[in-house]
Order: sequence, then structure tokens, then C-alpha cells
Amino acid sequence: MPRPMKLRCVAQLPSVGFFRPVGIPVNVLEEVHLSVEEAESIRLKDLSRLEQEGCAQRMHVSRPTFHRILESARGKLADALVNGKAIQIEGGNFGLRQSRFRCSNDGYEWDVPFEVLARRVPLSCPVCSSASVQSVTPPPFGLVGGSGRGFRGGRFRGERRW
Ligand SMILES: [Zn+2]
Repeated sequence: MPRPMKLRCVAQLPSVGFFRPVGIPVNVLEEVHLSVEEAESIRLKDLSRLEQEGCAQRMHVSRPTFHRILESARGKLADALVNGKAIQIEGGNFGLRQSRFRCSNDGYEWDVPFEVLARRVPLSCPVCSSASVQSVTPPPFGLVGGSGRGFRGGRFRGERRW
């Protein structure tokens, strides 16, 4: 079995998941697909203007890995801009810096930091110790049903995927 890829930490989900150029008929419109962590790399480096080292630390990846993610993202954005393609942001291999979970037994809600999720520690309710906990962090527009592997299927009952 291949080793699961390490999760990349994402502080902010994109507010919009789909961009489309005007004036191109849908039947000939091509799309580029950006992962959520690729969008995060653009946000950190090209919008917030952070040094690559700082970006890498924020996403919990090595500097070369961050560079690879960023270059991939920039290439896709350039392709979309120059060649008039739509941009779909979805899926990826990431965890939020902080995710909110709810216990289905007693309704208690609490926040789980990225470091805990990245270790893949099975979560249980801090109040009643029930293992019936689920993420309540809402996926943003356009990200529902993506190929996100932020959390492994079946790990948390009712877990939403993005
Ligand atoms: Zn509970």
C-alpha cells in the first residue's frame, strides 16, 4: 500500500470555487483544476507576499515541496489566463488549520488544530468520550464532492469530503 501523502495545512478556503471567462461557449470551454492547497500557495506567496520559507512553514511542508505546489498553481493559472480556460478549485490533500467537530451523542462542539488531524489520531468527544464525532466545518462553494483527502473515508462518521 502506498504511503499516504502528508496533509498540507490550509488556513483559508477559497471563497469561490469556479471562474469562467466571458464569451466562450460552454461546449468548447476548457478547464484547469487547482487543488485547494495550490490556491493556498498562491494566496500566501503571490497575494500576502510572504517569503517561501514562511509559506512552507505555514503549510507544514518543506520548502521544495512548497515551491513545487506554487509552480504547479502558477502554471495552471497562466494557462487559464492566456488560453481562456475556466478555473475549478477543488479537492487536494489538505487539512484546515483548525476544524470544528461536533459530538453526535451530546452535541458538544470543539475545535481541532491541524497538528492533531495530521497525526491521524482518532478523535473522541472530550466530554463523553464518544467516537461518534463529525466535522462541522462547512465546505465552501464549489468544493463539495471534490477529491479531497483531508480526512480518510469512514474515519469520522458523517465526515464531509471536500
Ligand atoms: Zn460527547
